[in-house]
Amino acid sequence: MSEKAASSTRIRPRIGRWEIDDQGEVVLLGTRCGECGEVAFPEHQICVNCGSESTSEIRIKGPTTLRNYTIVHQLPPGFESPWVVGYGEFDGQMVILAPIVGATRDELHEGVALGLCVGVTKVEDDGEELHSYQFTPLKA
Ligand SMILES: [Zn+2]
Repeated sequence: MSEKAASSTRIRPRIGRWEIDDQGEVVLLGTRCGECGEVAFPEHQICVNCGSESTSEIRIKGPTTLRNYTIVHQLPPGFESPWVVGYGEFDGQMVILAPIVGATRDELHEGVALGLCVGVTKVEDDGEELHSYQFTPLKA
């Protein structure tokens, strides 16, 4: 790889696909295995449980239930510290890791309901913003 190519290549994190539906809600796009029912996010074309290629798209919506989280203070360039990230459980079927935004320490505890949103996760050196799905507390 040439020096020029190396400097212009960005390594992006592997994150799942999402879209905004007609109601403005964030929908995560995963897969369900047609043979064994295993669900996955990000999507898998081959089931990690049984090896079947019979997978189809599923649409995953919030709310999710916070299982646990951590607050990261030492981050790579482009991330704003502190960075809160946690595992959300969806209908007892899958657990997805995502940044948590807009939460106070009092709102962060196991079992709390979180909604899905999309926001800036990282800012590149040139100012480009990388967006990703995120969790945020549901406000009454
Ligand atoms: Zn399977």
